[in-house]
Amino acid sequence: MDEIPPDGAQISSGSPDHPPRQGLLKFCPHQMVESVRQIDPEDLKRRGIEAVILDLDNTLVRWREDEMTREVAAWLEELQATGIKLCILSNSILSKRSARMAERLGTLNVGKARKPSRQGFRRALAALGTEPAVTAIVGDQMFTDILGGNRVGVYTIMVRPLHRKEFVYTRLIHRPPERLLLSLFKRRGHL
Ligand SMILES: [Mg+2]
Repeated sequence: MDEIPPDGAQISSGSPDHPPRQGLLKFCPHQMVESVRQIDPEDLKRRGIEAVILDLDNTLVRWREDEMTREVAAWLEELQATGIKLCILSNSILSKRSARMAERLGTLNVGKARKPSRQGFRRALAALGTEPAVTAIVGDQMFTDILGGNRVGVYTIMVRPLHRKEFVYTRLIHRPPERLLLSLFKRRGHL
């Protein structure tokens, strides 16, 4: 699915707190939350997290919409106040939109990420200037955000999608196996 990186750098380096994921566990987030508000910036700090990569659609805003809820905006401000660096990493083909959002929020932005490709994550890590061991990803999709994050060794946090409306391919192709794997990971005590 993904090409071998030319430089061989930053491959699943993980950290003592989140060792590299192998096999099926590459699909398993380190943490699962109902809403981004459940992610405590101080808790991230305690884990040594210095930067957070953010998915856009259905994580921060509804699919292809621009308006953010007050709750999400407050959470982002809290993260920034804690000194955590932020970078939006979006697969959206509407790359001007994520750039606009990033400018409004005062975050970095990496568009056309092609998650779960490692390349997009590496571009985000380069923009943030952090290593995977001190970086987290927050996203609503297992087969893009979480798989990609685990491949490069960042701390992965899966959030329930903000809204049911999404890309039809996501809904029909990604969500059913995602549900199966989540229930398997829960049964096995990984979540
Ligand atoms: Mg998303």
